[in-house]
Amino acid sequence: MGIEVWCLGMTKHINQFVAQSRKESAKARSLCTFAKISNLRLVISTQGEILKRYTSKLTKIPPTVGMTKRTILFIAQSRKESAKARLLCAFAKNFAPLRETNSPLILALLLFSLQSQAQILKKPIPDKLIVLTFDDAVLSHYTNVAPLLKKYKLGGTFFIAEFLKPTFSDKSLYMSWDQIGKLNKMGFEIANHTQKHTHVNKMSKEQFIEELNYIESQARAVKVKKTMVSFAYPGYDTHPSAIITLKEKGYQFARVGGGKAYDPLKNHPYLIPSFSTSGNNSKQIYDAFGQAQDGKIVVLTIHGVPDAAHPWVTTPLNLFEEYLKFLYENHYKVIALRDLNKYINTQNALETIQPDFSKAK
Ligand SMILES: [Zn+2]
Repeated sequence: MGIEVWCLGMTKHINQFVAQSRKESAKARSLCTFAKISNLRLVISTQGEILKRYTSKLTKIPPTVGMTKRTILFIAQSRKESAKARLLCAFAKNFAPLRETNSPLILALLLFSLQSQAQILKKPIPDKLIVLTFDDAVLSHYTNVAPLLKKYKLGGTFFIAEFLKPTFSDKSLYMSWDQIGKLNKMGFEIANHTQKHTHVNKMSKEQFIEELNYIESQARAVKVKKTMVSFAYPGYDTHPSAIITLKEKGYQFARVGGGKAYDPLKNHPYLIPSFSTSGNNSKQIYDAFGQAQDGKIVVLTIHGVPDAAHPWVTTPLNLFEEYLKFLYENHYKVIALRDLNKYINTQNALETIQPDFSKAK
């Protein structure tokens, strides 16, 4: 028995799948799995354990067709979508073919874009997932940050550049490459922030490649064996051509600013937004931690702790430790940027998500 499809006419992105007969329950099960992989919430189930498992988030929506052997399965992409789901529930309730049929019935409402979303996520994004990133290779990353990350068993990414001003050769301000090699040995990610902290919109393609290559080879010289997959844009300046180069070079993730949580289904993997810690902006940072839910990941950009080279982006040491303690005690999962490839198929994300350069800063 086939699946009938009605277009509800509410939006072209919503299709309604109605499956009849028990045979179709296999399809329902695969939809469940599909929704799970897509990190979606199955909203309503009037029967069946397999559906109930996933109904935790949006249980307030009332069961719509309450007959036995009849299951209605709503899939909502996010809280925003739950309004749509509610409308669709109301529609289904009053929809004559659903009310009158006596055959076992499964109704699934599915967002049209799910196909690509399922391919973007390898597994659902857990709540409380945080990525810590540290920019500019300042000395306090080695002396203060790394020991504290170890103390609280947290991961992190260090974006390395060799500043011209104040100069990278001043070892009272910046880490040496030996120290950067030691961070790698401790298990942290060493990643690319260009050779001279040159903004990507100020470089030719050739210069950009040269600057990326320089950091890669310096890292290899201090035994960073893993291929670099993460990049951070100096000054958060972006350019469409940079995306092409990063792809050619095999990078998987690139971080911008923007002060928003990262939604892997919406944000291009070369334009991953982040929140910046700066001075005493702890209210903003704790608020950001709270946003690590419903499929969103919170990425922090942190400069020196403290930052003697660039004091306007300093983070006080005691406040930084307070953040780490909070994350540790509240059971957040804190990882490096490259670890996101356990959750995200970047190749598919690169192919399906349109880059939006307007919100990089
Ligand atoms: Zn920087």
